[in-house]
Amino acid sequence: MLPIGLKAPVDRPFNVLCLGCHSDDIEIGCGGAIMKLVRAYPGAAVTWVVLSAGGEREHEARRSAERFLAGAGWTRIVTREFRDGFLPYVGAQVKDFFEQLKGECAPDLIFTHYRGDLHQDHRLVSELTWNTFRNHLILEYEIFKYDGDLGAPNVFVTLEEELCRTKIGLLMEHFATQRSKHWFTEDTFWALLRLRGVEAASPTRYAEAFYGRKLVF
Ligand SMILES: [Zn+2]
Repeated sequence: MLPIGLKAPVDRPFNVLCLGCHSDDIEIGCGGAIMKLVRAYPGAAVTWVVLSAGGEREHEARRSAERFLAGAGWTRIVTREFRDGFLPYVGAQVKDFFEQLKGECAPDLIFTHYRGDLHQDHRLVSELTWNTFRNHLILEYEIFKYDGDLGAPNVFVTLEEELCRTKIGLLMEHFATQRSKHWFTEDTFWALLRLRGVEAASPTRYAEAFYGRKLVF
């Protein structure tokens, strides 16, 4: 298969926006792709937004983001304290936040939640991403969960085993509040990376997968 790469701007930094509801979403969904991107484009400018991160979860989010973004040319980590699980019920406030964000960054690439995600917070953020950013490359990442909403993604980023190990190690290291959850285990992270690697015929055996609903060549 002919691989497709990103044509980064030459006269300014490559601007990336990562959007996640909760403090581990971005890392689980696209942490490997982000680390690969930062290595490929060391001058990249990354804005990292977590909408529902209060108290200890904010500290976790910030410490983790700093590690995932190590080596980036410029970073901005933004956290808000919208109530976990209730984002759709304060939708006007969340939309106001997106409008503000639109004026603060001009991303070349956006990572956001999957439109078909069954978590109500995730789904709202996906919808607002498309509502807000109208001429942008958007990749939707996936988060496995009890609800069983994994689909058939159509964009794959192959990852070296070493990068997968780093991603999973950072997840286990930084999210102490999540470790008691039955799904938050190394083997589930490895399993999805390996499955998506199979679907991508990844030469490294591993991949993260995304939904690219609109791609312009
Ligand atoms: Zn989440």
